[in-house]
Amino acid sequence: MNDFRDNRPMQWLRRLFHRHVPRIPDALWRDCVARLPFLQRLPPHDLERLKRLCEALLDKKTFTSAGGLELTDEIAVLIALQASLPVLNLTLDLYDDMAGIIVYPAAFVVPQSEMDEAGVVHEWRAPVSGEALDAGGAVVLSWEDVEASDAPGYNVVIHEFAHKIDMGDGGANGCPPFLADYHRDIGPQAWQREFTAAYEDFTRQVDALDRQLPDDFDENDDVHASLHEALFAELPLDPYAASHPAEFFAVASEAFFVLPQPLADAYPEIYRLLSRYYRQDPLGAARHDAS
Ligand SMILES: [Zn+2]
Repeated sequence: MNDFRDNRPMQWLRRLFHRHVPRIPDALWRDCVARLPFLQRLPPHDLERLKRLCEALLDKKTFTSAGGLELTDEIAVLIALQASLPVLNLTLDLYDDMAGIIVYPAAFVVPQSEMDEAGVVHEWRAPVSGEALDAGGAVVLSWEDVEASDAPGYNVVIHEFAHKIDMGDGGANGCPPFLADYHRDIGPQAWQREFTAAYEDFTRQVDALDRQLPDDFDENDDVHASLHEALFAELPLDPYAASHPAEFFAVASEAFFVLPQPLADAYPEIYRLLSRYYRQDPLGAARHDAS
């Protein structure tokens, strides 16, 4: 489906190929961590564990560039580092079902199709910032969108890797696999109930805002665009979460790690379940500081 003629193995992995597990140079690691403010909550020993996990991920998975992107050490480490965060207290095995990581310089075009109510299948091509292919496929990312990760609550790497975790027990449906070693305290029925309720509530909110937009809404019209921004800014999550239960899980996971407070305020049960699932409490440090 895409043009991978420009494949290049990652430079420093090739350089260090003779070693068992590649070691990320300290200066590079520090630079990458400094670019991700949401990592500041982690104490030094957790950051050290994250580094080891990131090195193991880089060792296990192949990074491939596409669309003319020159893959650098920094690109590979920044992506692997963010992909490792959700599984910091779990296991990299959750990514076993992933062929590798493919990076484009910017949004890439993916063929889309959807069947309408009359049963007609519409096909079109749309640029996307990331894609997680199921059935053992790759995670595909736009580097430009990875770099936009400092936008509030937005993190395409965590989003796509949350999809990969979700796909671990079949297709993406918003219910990830519960592992015997880690998730005994999560009831699958409670998960289903809470996530369905939150998804339905959020979808109602987004629908209500949609109805306030003009009938001839055009996202390329500046006045319409700023109205949209003002209306949707109050939502606790990116409105894209309303498009499917699997997107709700992926967007909520992004928010959980990157901008957790609005999520915890609007949907405390979802925050609690994600905290049990990922076995992390991003607001814990803030609560501790405030007390
Ligand atoms: Zn998604």
